[in-house]
Amino acid sequence: MKKILRGHHLLCTHGFKGMGYSPDFVDVMTGIVADMRNEETDFPIQVVQGFDDACQACPHKGSTQCSKSEDSNGHVLSMDGKVISHLGLSAGGVYMKSELLQRTAERVRPGDLDYLCEGCSWLEFGVCKEGIGNLREKQRV
Ligand code: SF4
Repeated sequence: MKKILRGHHLLCTHGFKGMGYSPDFVDVMTGIVADMRNEETDFPIQVVQGFDDACQACPHKGSTQCSKSEDSNGHVLSMDGKVISHLGLSAGGVYMKSELLQRTAERVRPGDLDYLCEGCSWLEFGVCKEGIGNLREKQRV
């Protein structure tokens, strides 16, 4: 069950608490998050800078780019790029979930989200920083 995830969604999955852009999007994201947090499963993930499995259910998905607002596509691509670079990954590369979780725990501190996720409307809720903190504890970093 290979998944395709865009760079910044590698962070979102740790703090996700059911908020989202539509019921369909929340359903799909809930499934992805459950698989990411399930300690019994490991699977390959292609990391991309662009549309991924979650975007397919987003009401703001345009034909070629995010259409949430005038600058949303540039913003999400920029967050993807920052996360991919911060984790030392290559866009388009395929990695095992276990490796991505370990890299995220080792390389991302909760405070890094101020830079990596700058401009994201969910950042102020604090759940994402909390999620990264929980991941670091779980991975014993
Ligand atoms: S702040 Fe936004 S981009 Fe960053 S992890 Fe949370 S939801 Fe994802």
